Amino acid sequence: VLGEGKEGQQHSDSVSGPVRTLRVKMVLLGSSGVGKSSLALRFGKDEFRKTSPTVGCAYLTRVVHLSGVSLRFEIWDTAGQEKYHSVTPLYYRGAQAALVLYDISSRETFIRAQLWVTELERQCGPGSTVVWLVGNKADLDQNRQVSAQEGQVLAGSKGLSFIETSALSGDQVSELLDAVAHRVYGSMGEQQG
Ligand code: GDP
Repeated sequence: VLGEGKEGQQHSDSVSGPVRTLRVKMVLLGSSGVGKSSLALRFGKDEFRKTSPTVGCAYLTRVVHLSGVSLRFEIWDTAGQEKYHSVTPLYYRGAQAALVLYDISSRETFIRAQLWVTELERQCGPGSTVVWLVGNKADLDQNRQVSAQEGQVLAGSKGLSFIETSALSGDQVSELLDAVAHRVYGSMGEQQG
């Protein structure tokens, strides 16, 4: 477990020699209660807290090392703004990655996820942000209301990537961050030509 105030570290590919560090803003979206703060905490500190976690700062950081480059993720949580069904445009500004979460045990949050995807497209424009659709609370399989296939189909129809995670158990959390890091780095290369 990483101490308070320390940056999380995630090693992906092997590292040799001096590395560049690039800043990546990643925003978390989705209905209240789907696990945004919990997932942010897992990314940032690899912790889970049973009581609803208040991140207590604007964002958490996590460094992901790829070969020859380090990505310093700034992981932003809506801090409850989503209760009003919209988030200030400032939240989206400059985001290279976005995760749209729903809770696999709540169909309503899945329906709302589609609205968050639309809002994200409106705010960021098509194609400028790497977007993942995330079915969280995968540990609640016995209460599942949304099948993985439905998630996959929605993601496919919007051109998004898809994964199911559990912020509670940590399942698929580092895999998700790793996949986002690779995709964001790839898209930075494309933008630079
Ligand atoms: P937010 O409102 O989207 O930020 O959601 P929170 O992170 O505050 O989580 C809402 C509730 O869901 C809290 O009681 C969390 O403990 C719980 N929770 C979050 N992630 C998971 C998960 O992966 N599995 C389960 N079973 N509960 C979770």
